[in-house]
Amino acid sequence: VTRAGIVVTGTEVLTGRVTDRNGPWLAEQLRQAGVDVSAVLVVGDRPDDMRGALSYFASAGVDLVVTSGGLGPTADDLTAAVVGEVQGRPLDVDPELEQRVGAVVEKLMSRRGWRADPEATAAGVRKQAQVPAGATVLEPVGTAPGLVVPPADGRGGPVVVVLPGPPSELQGMWPAALDAAPVRAALAGAAELRQETVRLWGTLEAQLAATLREHDDELAGLEITTCLREGELEIVTRYAPGAQPAYDRLAAVLAEEYAATLFSTGPTLDDLVADALRSQGLTIATAESCTGGLLVARLIERAGSSAWVLGGITSYANSAKEHLVGVPAGMLAEFGAVSPQVALALAEGARERFGADVGVGITGIAGPGGGSPDKPVGTVHLCAVGPSGQQARSVRLPGSRTAVRERSVVLALHMLRQ
Ligand code: ATP
Ligand code: MG
Repeated sequence: VTRAGIVVTGTEVLTGRVTDRNGPWLAEQLRQAGVDVSAVLVVGDRPDDMRGALSYFASAGVDLVVTSGGLGPTADDLTAAVVGEVQGRPLDVDPELEQRVGAVVEKLMSRRGWRADPEATAAGVRKQAQVPAGATVLEPVGTAPGLVVPPADGRGGPVVVVLPGPPSELQGMWPAALDAAPVRAALAGAAELRQETVRLWGTLEAQLAATLREHDDELAGLEITTCLREGELEIVTRYAPGAQPAYDRLAAVLAEEYAATLFSTGPTLDDLVADALRSQGLTIATAESCTGGLLVARLIERAGSSAWVLGGITSYANSAKEHLVGVPAGMLAEFGAVSPQVALALAEGARERFGADVGVGITGIAGPGGGSPDKPVGTVHLCAVGPSGQQARSVRLPGSRTAVRERSVVLALHMLRQ
């Protein structure tokens, strides 16, 4: 097996001010290239910690290390120097690169109308043009060039790919990194792996584990990982092409034993909802109380959703339910805002006020206060009204206020995927 390590650098990432997007992205890309990722290490902008991370991966015997960040013009950007030192390749100014980076910086500054001390600018450019001797330079996407740094002759150890921190620059540079000769050589043994995803809704992880154990002998050659998220049990299986029969067997077992809860053999819940609405040419609108617009926001996350999402009303107060959505005051007084009747009235109101094909209403008690013996915290009523009739669900969801609201949205999406 071919193995790789990832070093994410940046004090802003280490402290959590910036959420790491590069580690997970690189891990997925490497997986897709058939490479096993040994670990993702996050270190601050300290040379000692960066050296430590690189030496950890060298001693772990990985074939490739990918780093992100620390390539900029400022003093805390040290990655090129540290990697050069570790690989036994001292830094050299690459005059041609210096010119190219200089031109890019000049263009950037004039476009943004920035002014800077020319000497400081030149120093920054020179710093970014310092590359370890014998490294391959990857064309900058922003201003920082990337680097592919093999160990110096006779040294041994992994090839190190150095990429910039801004995720768009890192992602833009990745294809060129994969294509560089030392990287191709390091990954030459990596086998293309197939990957399949099956999604269950309403199956316990322990139950699935028991099923898998039962069929253990038929599933050799499959790497199966399960993950429980949003009430959904996601089963991701990776395997070499030779293990296709084992995967087919797994797929058959899951289809047979989990016919009631298996809802997807690939697409996400959000994909399925979007496909269902788009393929039937239906438009949708919502009237949400306890979820406060989370459902419509989730629907709108998808690019192109303007073709089917008309909008949503956040009708939290009773007066909003009455005046904005048209829920009768008498109904609110008789059944209370958290009731199946009001969920239906919200769905119908949303449908009518937006002129949508499908209307969704959600009303519930997210807590932590506001519960009562007959309507405890977590009570949620959902309703969807469409051309083929209506669907309603009344549930009592566990968890915090945030959990109740998020679970309500997931429930609504499961109603809409059909
Ligand atoms: P630059 O030339 O932009 O300075 P750089 O390679 O030095 O490039 P960094 O200074 O490490 O990159 O990071 C620049 C910015 O990119 C960070 O402030 C942060 O906003 C973003 N960034 C860096 N690393 C990550 C990461 N792992 N995940 C998400 N964003 C990141
Ligand atoms: Mg920086």
